[in-house]
Amino acid sequence: METEIWFARARPSKSLQCNEFDQEDRWPSQSSNKKLEKLMKQIAVIGAGITGVTTAYALLQRGFDVTVFDRNRYVAMETSFANGGQLSASNAEVWTQWGTILKGIKWMFEPSAPLLVNPKPSWHKYSWMAEFMGNIPNYETNTTETVRLALSAREHLRRYAKNEGFEFDCEDRGILHVYQDSKELKHAKRVNELLRKGGLQRYEVSPQEAYDIEPAIKCDLVGGFYTKSDFSGDIHQYSTHLSQACERLGTKFHFNADVISLKQIGIRTRVEWDSEGEKNYDTFEGIVVCAGVASRHFAAQLGDRVNVYPVKGYSITVNLDDKKSQDAAPWVSLLDDKAKIVASRLGKDRYRIAGTAEFNGMNRDIRDDRIKPLVKWCEKLFPNVSTEHAVPWAGLRPMMPNMMPKVAAGKRHGIFYNTGHGHLGWTLSAATSEIVAELVLTASRSNSGVMKNHMNEIS
Ligand SMILES: Cc1cc2nc3c(=O)[nH]c(=O)nc-3n(C[C@H](O)[C@H](O)[C@H](O)COP(=O)(O)OP(=O)(O)OC[C@H]3O[C@@H](n4cnc5c(N)ncnc54)[C@H](O)[C@@H]3O)c2cc1C
Repeated sequence: METEIWFARARPSKSLQCNEFDQEDRWPSQSSNKKLEKLMKQIAVIGAGITGVTTAYALLQRGFDVTVFDRNRYVAMETSFANGGQLSASNAEVWTQWGTILKGIKWMFEPSAPLLVNPKPSWHKYSWMAEFMGNIPNYETNTTETVRLALSAREHLRRYAKNEGFEFDCEDRGILHVYQDSKELKHAKRVNELLRKGGLQRYEVSPQEAYDIEPAIKCDLVGGFYTKSDFSGDIHQYSTHLSQACERLGTKFHFNADVISLKQIGIRTRVEWDSEGEKNYDTFEGIVVCAGVASRHFAAQLGDRVNVYPVKGYSITVNLDDKKSQDAAPWVSLLDDKAKIVASRLGKDRYRIAGTAEFNGMNRDIRDDRIKPLVKWCEKLFPNVSTEHAVPWAGLRPMMPNMMPKVAAGKRHGIFYNTGHGHLGWTLSAATSEIVAELVLTASRSNSGVMKNHMNEIS
């Protein structure tokens, strides 16, 4: 059971529980922070998506001196830009099951299918898929573990926003899974047992109850599942506000900084980056790699294997320009399991619809035949919403073959990873950032100032 070992390794020896840090007064005291002055202090975070920004914040709260690098001009311009918006413990079911494989084969030549694999040979793609299949036996364990992480993440995510006083178009109205197909509903009942095991309260609703929860739905349903405690919000807005808070608190951001190499020199790590044609470098006592789909490349430079594959997804942001559309669009965040679509209202005048999974390497093209099913879904369920102004987008989910984020120390000292969050980075990153920041803190305190891996080597 590789996953279990992995999680055991990801936790510090004192058995960190995510909710140990859910109170402001539990942060390490000023005096313990002072000790950091003598120990490892300067940490570089590679990547300013949701995981990089939450990691920077969690490190700051523990007294570290944090520098963030990103190749874009602003934070959250890649996968954390226009996702489905769901903070969804109820979507914690991992995809490592035979059903996913069978669907992938069935839909191979159907361009508009929810799951699409480019059959063109690629060693990375097929070896990743083999590893994905090898993780099918871990389906139950990884689903319940993901629920637990998601439940813990909520508290941290809300606390960060509350402490720093910002809004992010958060809609606290729960998430409703809708079913138009009884086979999918039957599967959902089985999944519900696992979600419950992980501690989530999600209950089944009749079609009428589903319409009562979200009166805007205008299609025939066979049933639904409702999770009152789930919520939704704008990941890009959140990342931007949190990065501004980090900056206020002393974090240095290097934007337009395309990191070329990470190289260990003695007990420090050298970051070399290209800034508009100019080469720069600096050294740090610790590095946290939060580079989304680029994390595999950086891990290889540092002697680690972090097998992230880019799984493309698409979204449309429907601009609700007129009152009729605003009234006809739902407020409760929805998840259609069969169509593999998630949808969230972002304030009065935006409706985000996202989904589909495409295995096509680092390709970021926005394909019309993949966008159309999202538009059609909106028109079918909400016929009075105008889709005249729908902004398409594509992003690459950084996906591990076991569907679990990689939160661990690397083989070499001072190297850490918080990456590979796949389809749930918005949901999970506040919890994994707390875990990785705690790993860095524990490591920085060990062995009289020499940064040493507290954890065993990365698997
Ligand atoms: C269509 C779609 C819908 C989704 N819906 C949801 C949802 O509803 N709920 C949910 O929880 N999750 C959802 N997700 C998943 C979630 O969006 C991702 O897991 C998350 O955004 C990943 O964040 P990240 O910080 O790891 O990666 P990113 O946001 O991609 O950040 C990585 C950063 O690293 C930087 N970087 C990379 N290489 C370099 C380099 N060489 N030098 C400098 N910087 C570099 C990039 O510029 C980037 O900013 C969805 C994903 C997609 C695609």
